[in-house]
Amino acid sequence: MGELIELTGLKDGEPVTCVAVFGDHADFESVPVDRRVMVIGGGITGITSAVDLGNAGYQVMLVDRLPSIGGRMLQLSETFPTLDCAQCTLTPRTVESGQHPNVLLKTSCEVEGLKGEPGDFTVSIRQKITYVDWNKCTGCGTCIQKCPSQSIALFERDAGRMTAIYTLSPQAVPNKPVIDAERCRYLTLGKCGVCAKSCPVEAIDYEQQESFFEVRVGAIIVSTGFDIYDWKNKMPEYGGGNIPDVIDGLTFERYLSASGPTAGAMIRPSDGKLVKDIVFIQCVGSRNPEFHKAYCSRVCCMYTAKHARLYKHGVHDGQVYIFYIDIRSTGKGYEQFIQQSVSEEEILYIRGRVAKLHRDGDKVMVQGADTLTGKKIEIAADMVVLAAAMVPNDGAKELADILGINYNDDGFFIEDNYKLASVETGQQGIYLAGCCQGIKDIADSAAQGSAASSKAMVLLSSVRRQKQEAV
Ligand SMILES: Cc1cc2nc3c(=O)[nH]c(=O)nc-3n(C[C@H](O)[C@H](O)[C@H](O)COP(=O)(O)OP(=O)(O)OC[C@H]3O[C@@H](n4cnc5c(N)ncnc54)[C@H](O)[C@@H]3O)c2cc1C
Repeated sequence: MGELIELTGLKDGEPVTCVAVFGDHADFESVPVDRRVMVIGGGITGITSAVDLGNAGYQVMLVDRLPSIGGRMLQLSETFPTLDCAQCTLTPRTVESGQHPNVLLKTSCEVEGLKGEPGDFTVSIRQKITYVDWNKCTGCGTCIQKCPSQSIALFERDAGRMTAIYTLSPQAVPNKPVIDAERCRYLTLGKCGVCAKSCPVEAIDYEQQESFFEVRVGAIIVSTGFDIYDWKNKMPEYGGGNIPDVIDGLTFERYLSASGPTAGAMIRPSDGKLVKDIVFIQCVGSRNPEFHKAYCSRVCCMYTAKHARLYKHGVHDGQVYIFYIDIRSTGKGYEQFIQQSVSEEEILYIRGRVAKLHRDGDKVMVQGADTLTGKKIEIAADMVVLAAAMVPNDGAKELADILGINYNDDGFFIEDNYKLASVETGQQGIYLAGCCQGIKDIADSAAQGSAASSKAMVLLSSVRRQKQEAV
């Protein structure tokens, strides 16, 4: 059995504490290789696959390159089409994966190599340096409270501050910290050492080295998710990241979130004033084959309507404008969600593209055209939110090359057959799920996570049957 630790999460909006088991390799390797599966990427997709497989009695190693699991959903405020709190939906699942006796979490880890065959792969893993000995750390958080180094918070998408020793979020699973070497005063200047001095169990290890290990598994599920298009460097017409009140949709999720940098208050990043006029621009970098991405990012129409509604719930007399090309709302209940946004929240949808954003005094000037009336439009906004294209995560192509799977020109992994084998790859025993295969919402991501786990189980039971027939 692995180590028992205490975790705090949210269930139905209320904090809950549970004891989680983080297994060790001995548990994982106690079953034959054809009963072991690796899941690469611990977002909602990978978590769903891992828990399904664990419930079916398989041993699962869930690998994520970040210090904790949860993926992008952990950064969301509320989710369409039901507007329920993302963390209340996700935290019980991250805790379940951490607690599951058949799921071994391997965070801060990346896949470096693969050999073998379906039913018996050997995967090489690099364990990154965390500077904290997690075998000793109890997750008490004293080091985080005492750390004097403050810097921009990655989890808050640069909108908040974090210490140099940190967990990604208060609900992190595993809830153990890592040190950001570039921001730690001890590691950069040789001064400080406050975390080491304050740690009651001497878990801080400034000398920690990268380590490598190999593990044998019967099948692999890849669920490495998505990132946001680099609009700051690629779209100077939208201010290139230099206008503080122009942010992207994922950053806006943090502004909307009660646990975010403004505790959900709709205030401007530049001066903290209440946002009264807000402009949302859809298809930023998507559906633009000439200069950016040709594909539709598929969830932006829905999350923009959600953003507009949540903003109006906070600022009843605020004015919302949404620039759109057309509205794509193909999920169950999605069209009703859009219609409600228009009729009940008095959101003004403008069909057209925005050519330019620039700063004038404390306003962001939005220059565009209404393509239905043919008129030019200029709006003085307090804040502009860009529904930027979604792209495969960094390092996806390198991972595909290691695993021997294919990717398209945009870097999304290619399935064996889009209609009938959307979670299979050209490599038997390696499956795909979630946004790394193509952009999709949470419902489709989780469904594909379950589909991939079923396919892995089908393969492994056929491997077992063949072995039995051979003896
Ligand atoms: C602004 C915004 C709002 C949204 N709102 C909604 C909503 O309201 N409702 C809805 O249904 N959908 C919404 N979505 C879509 C939703 O976020 C996705 O459907 C969901 O997060 C996809 O989950 P995933 O597990 O496939 O990917 P991710 O959440 O991206 O998780 C991927 C995981 O893989 C890890 N990883 C990446 N590369 C590697 C690697 N090489 N090795 C190991 N680990 C790796 C990452 O660290 C991460 O933990 C929204 C999206 C955005 C951008």
